[in-house]
Amino acid sequence: MISITSPGATAVFTSPATITLTADAKDTDGAIIKVTFYDGTKLLGEDAVAPYTFTWQNVAAGTYAVNAKATDHTGIAAVSKTVNITVNTGLADNRTAVEKYGQLKITGVHVTTPDNQPVQLRGMSLFWSQWMGQFYNAQTVKWLKDDWRSTVVRAAMGVELGGYLTNPTEEKAKVMAVVDAAIAEGLYVIIDWHDHHAQNHLEQSKAFFVDMAIRYGDKPNVIYEIYNEPEGADWNSQIKPYANEVIQAIRAIDPDNIIVVGTPNWSQDVDVAANNPLSYTNIAYALHYYASTHKQSLRNKATVAIDKGLALFVTEFGISEASGTGFLDETEARTWWNFLDQNTISWLNWSVADKNETSAALMPGASGTGNWPEASISRSGRMVRTELKNKNP
Ligand code: MG
Repeated sequence: MISITSPGATAVFTSPATITLTADAKDTDGAIIKVTFYDGTKLLGEDAVAPYTFTWQNVAAGTYAVNAKATDHTGIAAVSKTVNITVNTGLADNRTAVEKYGQLKITGVHVTTPDNQPVQLRGMSLFWSQWMGQFYNAQTVKWLKDDWRSTVVRAAMGVELGGYLTNPTEEKAKVMAVVDAAIAEGLYVIIDWHDHHAQNHLEQSKAFFVDMAIRYGDKPNVIYEIYNEPEGADWNSQIKPYANEVIQAIRAIDPDNIIVVGTPNWSQDVDVAANNPLSYTNIAYALHYYASTHKQSLRNKATVAIDKGLALFVTEFGISEASGTGFLDETEARTWWNFLDQNTISWLNWSVADKNETSAALMPGASGTGNWPEASISRSGRMVRTELKNKNP
């Protein structure tokens, strides 16, 4: 004889449930060889040693008819009565962003899930890696997820000015610390070639992104940003040819993860890129703004680009002047957020830094490993954190 002793008929579970099934089995003419557990006819698991148990993990909401079979030396000796198990939907959705949205792609003008549902990521950009390397660690990434409710983070790897071109091993290691942490936490992560003259560093950029694609191209978490902000470079003759080469190098290894391309004039002239877009799939175009400087005229450029079919991605914005400091324009910041929400455009705030400037999210001397109390967060940082906590699920 065999019976399921746990769970009882009245047990209630909440998804994603972990249910321990336990059976009591006895055989009058020999030994039990094993007990197998089933949901209907679907095998769940087995146990050869009493007490007979199986831990059923990640059980989704629904109803299940579970039974157990005892096998002795002659075959199936006994089948238990069915226990009906109900798993209710959890009130809170505790899945990570990557569990929710999966492998992102570009569908029309939107970042979407694999089944074409538009996704709006919101999160924080780190500061130039060569100057704020203390924040490039797992603790900060985890804090940005848990306390700030970020669904995406950006590793802004400085290239010139003492960055990757000078210390490639050191700067790449900082990026990898952030990417590895984001993967562990289920966050999306942007690998940003933070450069104003990337067309002058084409071979270094290609080699770097090939390495990143080999390491991370099979991970849904990763988004490549191959040119932060072109300064004075022409789209048709400089930026697009650079992008074509880097994209081709990435695509030879990683066929699908989203690649964000910088646009002329510090990633503002998305309308210019829209007149001659790249021909690859899963490409987004960077739109950067600093709310106290860039206002309706830049939103108009964005609208022109969207109307021409471009998918935009705000990989960086500040609630300050274009310099990164000066006046903090709360009203304009909200106008921008409304615009991005209406168009389902993802955004990352510049920046996780404790520099004494308006756009820095943290006060001078803030911890490099998260755990920031209110007193360590700047006025800009508090505004962004409130928006993240209100808007991100
Ligand atoms: Mg891939």
